[in-house]
Amino acid sequence: MKLVFATHNQHKFTEVHALMPPHIELVSLAQIGCFDDIPETESTIEGNAVLKAQFIKNKYGLDCFADDTGLEVAALDGAPGVYSARYAGQGGNSEANIRKLLENLHGLENRSAQFKTVIALSLEEDLHLFTGICQGNITQQPRGDGGFGYDPVFQAKGSHKTFAEITSEEKGRIGHRGKAIRALVEYLFELHD
Ligand code: IMP
Repeated sequence: MKLVFATHNQHKFTEVHALMPPHIELVSLAQIGCFDDIPETESTIEGNAVLKAQFIKNKYGLDCFADDTGLEVAALDGAPGVYSARYAGQGGNSEANIRKLLENLHGLENRSAQFKTVIALSLEEDLHLFTGICQGNITQQPRGDGGFGYDPVFQAKGSHKTFAEITSEEKGRIGHRGKAIRALVEYLFELHD
């Protein structure tokens, strides 16, 4: 079964490719000749994942899935959430995003937060959603050199290290995207039984 992964992010594609069941042939956007800027204009993480999957389904008529992730901070009413990439402005600058986040949390005791990934799978006429959540808290200062985005200021529940201080294998095991991907893979395996 061919399945398009609607991401232009090669790192994500490679990571997900390694986890797919053998009966799934994962196809990249480049392989189907899609170089469009896929719209992410919805106001929820779920909405954006669905929008991206439907964009590919409508334009190419192919089965596909898309993911969307956001960091939801309790004391900020769930912000930056769906706007995580451009929290400090359109450029998507992680350092500026982190600076803004720490400023907005300055002096607040409640630093709990969660990463949420939603994967929308468009299979024939059906749409399926898979969610992965990782709960934790925002540190006072950035720590670590690994990862990307908000990793230097996010510490998973029960851990004393930020996501930028742990290995990518460990992040895959406890992290939001890994959980959502495993839920998708489990579903795809079940389909084949
Ligand atoms: P995307 O939907 O995966 O492109 O994620 C949107 C934004 O959320 C990214 O630009 C990052 O700022 C942030 N983000 C997503 N996943 C992670 C993660 O695993 N660690 C840190 N930040 C992340």
